[in-house]
Order: sequence, then C-alpha cells, then structure tokens
Amino acid sequence: MSIRRVVAIINQKGGVGKTTTTANLGAALARSGLRVCLVDLDPQAHLSLHFGIRPAEDDATIYDLLLDEHAVVEDIAIKLEEGLDLIPAETDLAAAETDLGGLPDKQNRLRSALAASDNRWDVVLIDCPPSLGILTINALSAATEVFVPMQAHFLALQGVGKLLETVGLVCGSVNPSLRVTGIVLCMHESQTTLAREVVEDLKAFLEGCREQPVPWSRCRVLTPPVRRNIKLAEAPSFGQSILAYDAGSHGATDYLALAESVTQLWRTPVSEVEVKGDASAPEGADSVG
Ligand code: ADP
Ligand code: MG
Repeated sequence: MSIRRVVAIINQKGGVGKTTTTANLGAALARSGLRVCLVDLDPQAHLSLHFGIRPAEDDATIYDLLLDEHAVVEDIAIKLEEGLDLIPAETDLAAAETDLGGLPDKQNRLRSALAASDNRWDVVLIDCPPSLGILTINALSAATEVFVPMQAHFLALQGVGKLLETVGLVCGSVNPSLRVTGIVLCMHESQTTLAREVVEDLKAFLEGCREQPVPWSRCRVLTPPVRRNIKLAEAPSFGQSILAYDAGSHGATDYLALAESVTQLWRTPVSEVEVKGDASAPEGADSVG
C-alpha cells in the first residue's frame, strides 16, 4: 500500500495520551507492514525516553533538523524495530522556540526536512508538545492530518472545541489543506456514565460540523477507544512499545485494533467517508468501548 501520511498528534493538555499513542500506534502500524517514522517534537523528550533513547550531547536530533539546513533526516533517524524509526529529541529542543525566531521560513522547517526524506516512510507520526508554540506550528505545517488524543472527562469537549478552532486558524495561514481526521479516546473507562456522556456529546458535536467549511468536518471518533491499562504505563520503563512489552495486554490489543481502523480509514476514499458516516468503525469495534 502506498500512502504518504504525516499525522500531527496534538492536544494542548498534558497527560492525555499523546506520547503513548504516538509510540504504540506507530509500532502497531509498523507491524502491519507500513514504514513508519516517529518524530519527537516535545522538549520533554518523552517519546525518545519511551524507547530508551537518550541522545548524547553531540548526537544529532530533531533540534538539528529544525535549525541546521544541512542536517539530513536519514542521519538523524534511529531504527527502533523493523519498519519503525525515530527522530529523537533532547531537552535542548526547548531552545528551539527562541533559536528558530530569526530564521526565514521558521514555521516550515520540519515540512522541508521531511519533504527531503524522499518518501522513505509511508507514515510519519509527530508527537507534539502540550503548547501551541513554533514547534507545534512546524508540526501543523508538515502534517497532512491531525489526530487528537483525549480523555473523556468533564470539560474535555470544551478543550477539544478550543483546540479545533486554534488548529483551524493555523491551517488558514500555514497549511490550508490540513484536516483534523481523528479523535483517539485514551485511558478510556467505558463503564462510567460520565465517559459515555462525554463521548455522546463529542459525536453529536462532530456530526453538527459535517456540512461546515471547517478543517474538522470529516473528523471521527476513532475506534476502539484505548482502555486504561497499566501495561501501557509500564512499557516505557523497559524502553519498549506495548507490542514488544506485553503483546497479550489490553493495551496491545487496543492499539493494534486502532491501527487497523486507521489504515481502513486511509484506504476509504474521502467521498465514501462522507456518505457512509462512521467509516472509521469496523464491525463490532465499538463493543470494546
Ligand atoms: P501526553 O503525551 O499527552 O502528556 P502520555 O502519553 O505521556 O500523555 O500519558 C500520560 C501518562 O498516562 C503516562 O504516564 C502514560 O504512561 C499513561 N497512560 C497513557 N495512556 C494510558 C492508558 N491507556 N492506560 C494507562 N496509562 C496510560
Ligand atoms: Mg507527551
């Protein structure tokens, strides 16, 4: 399958599951045979740490890719497993916010670097910081679509609504063709009434946007939700994806199923998604949630 997708994984809130989703959805997509690159764009470098990667001071990282126009993506990407590469970060990335300040085209550095990678990957997943600074703008500029991980909590919908509007504004200026295509429910507790209500409200909100000229008019709640599972929190201590750490866990099952529904969504022509409605939901996937 030839798909070239660059997905920015964004939520301005911390602790919602961005890094966990980038790591494990990426690993699951790689298992399905796609060539996947994970990009750690968060100065906290949690994604790199998740895989036990701690760049030495003179190792090239995402910082170099953004700041040095001679840096080459091939030299920086690290192979994690078959089909799964990582462009790592370290804490000097925090300085990128200011260091990028004076550079021409500072919003499009990541986009240019990835464009030069010559279709080496089918899918690029970008783990964004919990802020909407220049790093996140680089992600939105490079991306072809956006996934928003969230927890179905009180006020979550309000946060997502605000985030979508901000993404809409950025799209208008740096990347007009960008679309928000999926919401990933993380640490999901489907048995609670609150979670059920929040998901219902979210779906109703998205349905209400279908005819509107907004970048999230095709956005779906992706299935299945990722259940709360302690194995997902343990895996980073072992430097592994959930598939390597505990293939039999709920966490592994959920991220594999999510990867399946994401690739199914990508195979479905846009026109069909619009007609069929919830094209992201394979038969029976809802029963997990
Ligand atoms: P973010 O990147 O949005 O800040 P993380 O992916 O780092 O969020 O997740 C926050 C914390 O929650 C981490 O400790 C992570 O291990 C844990 N976590 C994420 N998803 C799950 C889950 N489905 N079940 C249990 N713990 C999870
Ligand atoms: Mg994170």
